[in-house]
Amino acid sequence: MDKCSFCGREKKDTNLLIAGISGHICDSCIEQAYEIVQEELKKNNEFDVNSIKLLKPKEIKKFLDLYVIGQDEAKKYLSVAVYNHYKRLMQHTRQDNEDVEIEKSNIILVGETGTGKTLLARTIAKMLHVPFTIVDATVLTEAGYVGEDIESILTRLLQVADYNVEAAEKGIVFIDEIDKIARKSDNPSITRDVSGEGVQQGLLKLLEGSIINVPPQGGRKHPDQKMIPVNTKNILFVCGGAFDGIERKIGQRLNTKVVGYNAKKKSEQIDQNNLLQYIAPQDLKAFGLIPEIIGRLPVLTYLHSLDRDALRSILTEPKNSIIKQYQKLFEIDGIVLTFDEEVLQFIVDKAIEFKLGARGLRSICEVIMMDTMFELPSTNIDKLQVTKKYAKEKMEKVNLKRLKVA
Ligand code: ADP
Repeated sequence: MDKCSFCGREKKDTNLLIAGISGHICDSCIEQAYEIVQEELKKNNEFDVNSIKLLKPKEIKKFLDLYVIGQDEAKKYLSVAVYNHYKRLMQHTRQDNEDVEIEKSNIILVGETGTGKTLLARTIAKMLHVPFTIVDATVLTEAGYVGEDIESILTRLLQVADYNVEAAEKGIVFIDEIDKIARKSDNPSITRDVSGEGVQQGLLKLLEGSIINVPPQGGRKHPDQKMIPVNTKNILFVCGGAFDGIERKIGQRLNTKVVGYNAKKKSEQIDQNNLLQYIAPQDLKAFGLIPEIIGRLPVLTYLHSLDRDALRSILTEPKNSIIKQYQKLFEIDGIVLTFDEEVLQFIVDKAIEFKLGARGLRSICEVIMMDTMFELPSTNIDKLQVTKKYAKEKMEKVNLKRLKVA
């Protein structure tokens, strides 16, 4: 008598009994097993931090190239830092007791807003399948003041990791607008600087690696809330900021250096139009970051501002570029969508004209495409070519104030 080898049901009691080499399985056991498989896969798959497949720096850069245009220098630094970080992390998990302790390589990215800092960090997290969160440094304040506690950064990481502490402890945190917590001058403040130096002090603990008690729901700590201890030792922190005006500090430093021996030669070599490329830790200090923070962000790199060509490439080249996304949306309705090259140039022109940068590209596209996205699905049209004339018409109709930057 054939029976399911799992639940013991006889063939007549099942809808289907499948024979294997040395046993049988019934339909309901298959269904149950499938559910278990799905659940396990979901658990492991989401953030399988124990089997992070670590790519070599060159491969990491290649991956970044799929999503981020240009910024080769930043990509290179980031690739190496991420490679070293996760190498270090694996060394720990292997419990090697070697005496050389590799230090953490937290990263600081300096560059105008909308040049791809967040995108870079997000893409790295996507590649590694590790929890990733973005926090805005401007909302952070010292404990006891209005605003968010420093620990709230980790609450968000825990939330995206589905409260899987082990996964969160290997995640990536992007701290945006780190320049906004710079103290207002290079001198230590006399008055209390609630949102500046105090926050920097608070961040130190996080960046260097220690066990932090995190309120699971965020918000203000209150005594009877059960805290979750999170070790930040292996969390990679990527900080980003525009550091408006830092070129001046860089310029000053370079100029003071070039007096005297070899001066002429050096000053000739300085590319005054792109001072950011010379950025050094002391410039961050001059800007108002405290030396301890700078010390804990040992990887410092910069992003170029995006020129016409870069903006044009961003429209179509990244794997999930804006234009590709519209084409996909229309494809689902059976509509083939094309854009004239002139239109793409027009979009870039407008982004530059309104000083919207890369972020503006999407809002401009939205304005151009909104009416068609509303109307076309209810028609039989299966092809749409967007021309400059059409794009111009749409742009003329819109209230430019609505072109807000997301
Ligand atoms: P930042 O963090 O530097 O202020 P973001 O990374 O948030 O800027 O960039 C905003 C948006 O602009 C991104 O989501 C992306 O669509 C686009 N973008 C900016 N820079 C690039 C780039 N170098 N390559 C591709 N897209 C970019």
